[in-house]
Parts: sequence; C-alpha cells; structure tokens
Amino acid sequence: MKKKILVTGGLGFIGSHTVVCLHEAGFEPIIIDNLSNSLMSAMDGIQSLIGYKPTFINADVNDKIALSNLIESHKPEAIIHFAAFKAVGESVEKPLMYYHNNLGGLISVLEVMQQHNLSNLVFSSSCTVYGEPDTVPVSESTSTKPAQSPYGATKQMGEIILNDNASWCNTQCLRYFNPIGAHPTAALGELPLGVPNNLIPFLTQTVAGIRKELTIFGSDYETPDGTCIRDYIHVMDLAEAHVKAVERLLNKQQLESFEVFNIGTGNGFSVLEVIRSFEEENKIAVPHKIGPRRPGDVVKVWADTTKVENVLGWKAKRGLNEMMRDAWNWQLKLNQNT
Ligand code: UDP
Repeated sequence: MKKKILVTGGLGFIGSHTVVCLHEAGFEPIIIDNLSNSLMSAMDGIQSLIGYKPTFINADVNDKIALSNLIESHKPEAIIHFAAFKAVGESVEKPLMYYHNNLGGLISVLEVMQQHNLSNLVFSSSCTVYGEPDTVPVSESTSTKPAQSPYGATKQMGEIILNDNASWCNTQCLRYFNPIGAHPTAALGELPLGVPNNLIPFLTQTVAGIRKELTIFGSDYETPDGTCIRDYIHVMDLAEAHVKAVERLLNKQQLESFEVFNIGTGNGFSVLEVIRSFEEENKIAVPHKIGPRRPGDVVKVWADTTKVENVLGWKAKRGLNEMMRDAWNWQLKLNQNT
C-alpha cells in the first residue's frame, strides 16, 4: 500500500507539480483545494502525467469538518500545506482576507492534525521573511526583518505558530525563493488570474502578444546592471524539494521538530539577465521598457543553499535557460487553448 500524502492547494502552481512528483516517488497524493486560485484543468494535466485522477475534494482548509472527514477516510502520513493566498499587492489592499485565510487555514490544519494524531507537516514559507537582507546570500540563520506586507506577515506568523507547536508537530518549513517555469511537457504550469504581478507570467504574456510590453521596475538600483536580483527556481526542482521533505519526516530524520530550509538555486539573476536568457533560449525578443521602481521591492536576495544541500540532501538541478524554455512552452500551450 502506498503511503498517502494530503496536499492542500494541490491544484495550484506549486501544488500540482508536487502532486506529480509525489506520485513518481511512490506516494499517493490526496488533494484538497477550493479552486479560489486554481482551475480543474490542472487535474487534467495531473491525470495526463500520472495516469489517473488522484482523490480530490473541492473544499476550503478552513472547513474543519471537510478536512477532518478527508483525514479520517484516507489516513495520510503527512500534510503538505500549500493552500494560501500569495499576492503581495492584494494583501496590502485586503489584509484581513489574508490573515483570515492564511493564518486561519494553517490553524485549522493544525487543529485537525492534532485531533487525528497526525504530526508531519511541510509548510510553504517564503524568502520574503528575510525582507531586504543586510548581506547576501541569506542563510536560514539570517535574521528575519519586519514584514513588508500582510502576505509576508502571514508567512512569518505561520513560522512562529509552527515553532510554538513543535512539541507535537514535526514541521519542514520551506522558504521558497522565486518559483517559475512549468512542467517540461507543458502539461502543468502557472495560471495567473487577471494581469500577472510576477515577472515571468507577465513576460511570457507580453511575448505572446497579450500584453504590450514588459515594464522593468527600476534600473537605478545598486546592482551591476541597475535592476533587481532574485533567485529564480524551477518549479520542478521546488516540487522535488517537497518530496525530500516528506521523506525526511516519514523517515524520522529530523534533528529538530521545526526545521527550516531555503529552497533556491543559490544564484541571483537580474531582471535584465532574465530577459536576455529568455531571448537567447527561445530566440524571441521581449518587448520591454524601463519604468519606475515598484514600491516595496527588495533590491537583491538569493539563497545560501549549504544547509539544504547538506541536511535535506536536495539541490536544484535546472538552470535559468531551462526555466525560460519551460515557461515559454507553457505559454504556447495556453495560447493554443484560447
Ligand atoms: N518585475 C519587473 N516587472 C514586472 C514584474 C516584476 O521588473 O512586470 C521585477 C520585480 O521588480 C522584481 C523581479 O521582477 O525585481 C521579480 O518580481 P516578482 O513579482 O516576480 O517576484 P518578487 O520577488 O517581487 O516576489
């Protein structure tokens, strides 16, 4: 019998890729997703890759009865908790919605876990907890900075809540850097609703002709080419990190009950370098212009990956050009379907 892993938000961008990787690693993924920022078409993509439709319920993780019934009937060994809102700008406009959903959702998951004596959790955190770091790269022991947005605050508070519950809940807390790309077959990818805020979906939509041009938010930063630097990570590498984290939990390899890992490549690229990589890989020009800085943007951040490589035994394998290729193939697939 395969071990079951409950994936909240399993039809979202990172969740859907993780579901596929869990299956490939010999687990049976079970999905709960309320479709608030995902589409059922992700299930078709999953099915085409793994050959069957995993168990799925359309419910909110704040619905403790639905969550409890699902756990009661499937008895998962661990939960990977992705279900949360993730748009920084929206969180500034609707802070209560973010606190309610992201913190309420986490508390609901924890309460139901405790009720069922389930004690293995993988939590989606973010490099936003580091804010504008004093030095780069950032390691897991780099001190966190006051959150710049309600979204960032929900990730910081999520970590605090999990740390406070470490007496009974074993957590792998994964701090994601900038996840991009798509499944190499283009069966799965990101489905941004409305005008994308993030660089890559905006870029690919621009090249596809949906947007007129990409605006680079600031070119006068203190970086080699004046544009901001991020650690972009292929979503498949990120998904594989979740499998490693689940295995660490189930094999009882944790050294501490609450463990934090940076999930990045360890390499920083500027916005201009990303554009150049896309153009080089896909042989298409990216229409772009320089615009003003975007308020709240961190100038430069990338991961120190020493701990995640040595302790979790995970290292990103895919480079920036591969991320650009897969992101563009996914956009081409979306174009075909519209
Ligand atoms: N960016 C940009 N134009 C856009 C969207 C993003 O120049 O239309 C820049 C942004 O200023 C940042 C980088 O791209 O330096 C990554 O932004 P994104 O929103 O994807 O992720 P963040 O790191 O801000 O969470």
